[in-house]
Amino acid sequence: MRNRPVVDASPEAAAAIDAVLDRFGTGALRVAASAGVRFVHLRATERYRDRSRALRRLASGVDDWPVPPAGLFVVEERAVYLRSTSPMTVAHEFAHALDCALGGGAYLSGVDPRVRRAFRSARAFITPYAASGLDEYFAESLRAWVEANDPRSPWPRATRARLRELDPAMAEILESIFANDLVT
Ligand SMILES: [Zn+2]
Repeated sequence: MRNRPVVDASPEAAAAIDAVLDRFGTGALRVAASAGVRFVHLRATERYRDRSRALRRLASGVDDWPVPPAGLFVVEERAVYLRSTSPMTVAHEFAHALDCALGGGAYLSGVDPRVRRAFRSARAFITPYAASGLDEYFAESLRAWVEANDPRSPWPRATRARLRELDPAMAEILESIFANDLVT
């Protein structure tokens, strides 16, 4: 039984990814590993469709976007694909993977009434992207919980203290998830 997700990357990229994963703690890494979550870092010339069967199947792929996304989580493959190993990207995509692992294969954020209620009644969001949907709300809040940031991001720093201040309901949900569900 693995204790942390498999990381398919060069030694240098794997070290960067692992350093961000460590921020989530051993409980979270174990939950993700048992759900089969894995990481794939794309090499310089690789495209998403080169590594992902699911993304290959899609007619209009993300590879054709003017700027392809820095990372992606593919639910049906339980795989995080990364072009960037920046802390922000790794933490955000792993947060989706953890959301999926906690929900038993579907996003917990989509079905948990506590998360839905917090999202509906939120007066402020940790980042603009968090307001775009339940899954991004969960991912960005969780990124704030582990405080993974990029110096170059135009958004305010996502930190636990800011999350508690802006969105205490969501901070409490994450606190209980980490206290009850992830520590075994
Ligand atoms: Zn996302």
